[in-house]
Amino acid sequence: MEEKRKIYDLIIVGGGPAGLAAGIYGRRAALECVLIEKGLPGGQVAVSDQVENYPGIEDISGMELSEKFHTHAASYGLEILQHEAAAVEPGLEFHSVQLENGDVLHAYAVIIATGGSPKKLGVPGEDEYYGRGVSYCATCDGFFYRGKTVVVIGGGDTAVEEALYLAKLTQKVYLVHRRDALRASRILQQRVTADCKIEILWDTVLKSINADQSGVCSVDLMNVQNGAQTHIDVEGAFIFIGFNPNYQLVPAGIKLNADHYVVTDEKCETNIPGIYVVGDLREKFARQIVVAAADGCTAALAAAHYVERVKADESDCVLPPENTT
Ligand code: NAP
Repeated sequence: MEEKRKIYDLIIVGGGPAGLAAGIYGRRAALECVLIEKGLPGGQVAVSDQVENYPGIEDISGMELSEKFHTHAASYGLEILQHEAAAVEPGLEFHSVQLENGDVLHAYAVIIATGGSPKKLGVPGEDEYYGRGVSYCATCDGFFYRGKTVVVIGGGDTAVEEALYLAKLTQKVYLVHRRDALRASRILQQRVTADCKIEILWDTVLKSINADQSGVCSVDLMNVQNGAQTHIDVEGAFIFIGFNPNYQLVPAGIKLNADHYVVTDEKCETNIPGIYVVGDLREKFARQIVVAAADGCTAALAAAHYVERVKADESDCVLPPENTT
């Protein structure tokens, strides 16, 4: 297919909170930008049950918050292309993003906001029974387990939030954690220990997920302190043990850390000028919606200066120093 020679100011890859915030700030900075998202805009937050820590909004469903981000970005005229990006190719004058359909888009700056995907345990039955009792999303699948017994694996914020959500629908939730203390925030720990429908199995790991004709029917567990093996009957196994960054589109030559998170400077810029990484894909301390949105803001403002400089260099005019206020 023939390449389009148009050069955007900014291409944003990924439509979660980080990408959409970048779109809002990019458009407000009068950048000609396009956002590429393979699914519906929203990212991981769209499949979260409740969000209670986005400043200014005490309680909102993940779906509603992501719709607000989307509507806000659209109100500034952000162009959103529903396509899968296949590659990001750095260039000297401009960068390019190749789409799955073969089209190639060009821009002076690119923001990669592709987030992460759920980590897998790698136990027998996990892949085989995915969609037949094994799930990585309580909000999506919890409905099917009304009145049933399920097991949740993990001890972080996600596992605890999802266990609390599932406890509202199901008869009983076993929360299986490999240590004797939860990683989740204090407030979530208090809620989960107070919920009489949730039984926490400490120092315990999942060994296998078993199924019959109708789907998952039980799991095998092992206590890591004494090696004791147990078997519990459950109809669903929800796995929330963190996630892997989606770094596949990050061009070769961009610095990653040992866990494949992208290393950036404080402007969210990578070691290739004009290529920025935001949100959960970026190496950082806290993976929160508000931080992802802040990354989007930072990168878009930095990209606006970068684009201005590149264009000025093209026309040889002198610009004042950077100032983001
Ligand atoms: P996480 O914080 O990395 O927690 C992963 C949990 O899974 C940990 O308890 C870990 O155990 C356990 N785990 C990891 N690998 C395991 C394995 N192979 N077998 C058994 N257990 C395993 O991941 P997350 O809960 O998805 O959270 C990711 C980030 O998003 C965090 O920064 C979190 O604060 C944030 N988040 C925030 C909110 C919120 O603020 N509302 C909601 C969701 C997520 P160990 O504790 O022993 O390492």
